[in-house]
Amino acid sequence: MTTRRAVIAGGGIGGLACGLALARNGWDVEVLEQAPQMTEVGAGLQISPNGMAVLERLGVVPLIEDALFEPEAIELRMGRSNRRVFRLPMKGYAQDRWGQRFVQIHRADLHNGLLQALRAQATARVRTNAKITGYVRERGGASVYLERGDRVFGDVLVGADGVRSVIRNQMNGADRARFTGQVAWRTVVPVAALGDDAPPPYGVIWAGRGKHAVTTRVRGGSHVNFVGIVEQNDWQEEGWSIPGKREDALKDFGDWQPCLTSVLRASEGMFRWALFGRPPLASWCDGPVTLLGDAAHPMLPSMAQGAVMALEDAVVLADELEHTSDISQALLRYEGGRKPRVTRVQDRSARNARMFHQRSMLGQLMTYGPMAIASRLSVTTVHRQQDWIYGYKSDG
Ligand SMILES: Cc1cc2nc3c(=O)[nH]c(=O)nc-3n(C[C@H](O)[C@H](O)[C@H](O)COP(=O)(O)OP(=O)(O)OC[C@H]3O[C@@H](n4cnc5c(N)ncnc54)[C@H](O)[C@@H]3O)c2cc1C
Repeated sequence: MTTRRAVIAGGGIGGLACGLALARNGWDVEVLEQAPQMTEVGAGLQISPNGMAVLERLGVVPLIEDALFEPEAIELRMGRSNRRVFRLPMKGYAQDRWGQRFVQIHRADLHNGLLQALRAQATARVRTNAKITGYVRERGGASVYLERGDRVFGDVLVGADGVRSVIRNQMNGADRARFTGQVAWRTVVPVAALGDDAPPPYGVIWAGRGKHAVTTRVRGGSHVNFVGIVEQNDWQEEGWSIPGKREDALKDFGDWQPCLTSVLRASEGMFRWALFGRPPLASWCDGPVTLLGDAAHPMLPSMAQGAVMALEDAVVLADELEHTSDISQALLRYEGGRKPRVTRVQDRSARNARMFHQRSMLGQLMTYGPMAIASRLSVTTVHRQQDWIYGYKSDG
């Protein structure tokens, strides 16, 4: 078979992972990224065992090992009182049960690891300053148009261009984004800047009335990552890098635990953005063109699975394209295989967002009571509930 050529729209986590998976299978790959440089924003990611399985398969783990932090546990606590609702042990348990670690990492470190691995592939290239404006299907493949005027052809075109995907909009019509009524905060600060008031070195979900926060450790444990999500209707800008004011973040979380307010006070840059929901797409495929990651299935961050789903997509897509010359059929099999799983994760993410925001005492009792009892009675039972998500293996 002659070397096949893949064009990938977008050099985020999904696009790079897909490029890497295809290049490792012998494809000639070009990743087109609109940004002038390959950089990622300062924020943390939790990578569950199903995501680590993909990174190991792609040979990325040794490249990011020093940047990983493996928390002892994931906890749910009340943001104001610090009362612990449940604790799910992770360190050691995750490896035993799901075959991989549950880790936390800075997005930039994961992005760098993927980029390094991709650049080590002789048949892969990354082009920056390459903003795509649309695509056209042609005989034997598809071409994208770049804002600068070029046209780039591939036997397959993968739209990994994120939540506001140009490829998706052309394929499925205008984006039907709906504001969720939730606004997110994010910041990363060095642990050393927090004195005795650092959040515990676990993954902690802090719940409260109409809001929740998550604290994790990144950069090998040396930095705290804070994400806060607040129900709020008067602010609707969507974008990762919109600066927010510390005073406003303190208005939202000022009466929560000192280990959280200390992070906000020590922050040298807060970012704030509105969260939008998008209904599942009718189709991810248009002949030799498909979608991947947030472009295909954007989700709320409340299950910490968006990047992990993009990683899974990447290897499943590469597997489907292996040993076949019928690209359109392979893409349909990829969509059919992935859709039920990602739709379930999208639904759960939306449900979690509501669960962490219980406003009434009764609501809190009804929601958190059974969780508290279950985690005290049997850790195995709670772990078992995560099997469908963390135990997934892309290679069967
Ligand atoms: C607060 C928050 C916390 C999160 N935490 C987690 C977590 O803990 N774990 C987890 O797994 N996920 C998490 N996620 C989700 C995760 O960040 C996303 O799902 C993931 O980044 C999606 O990757 P992607 O490659 O599909 O899209 P993106 O990361 O958005 O990458 C898309 C790329 O395409 C480029 N692009 C866009 N348009 C064009 C164009 N026209 N031409 C060329 N290039 C273009 C962009 O510049 C970008 O580089 C979180 C999300 C949020 C908001």
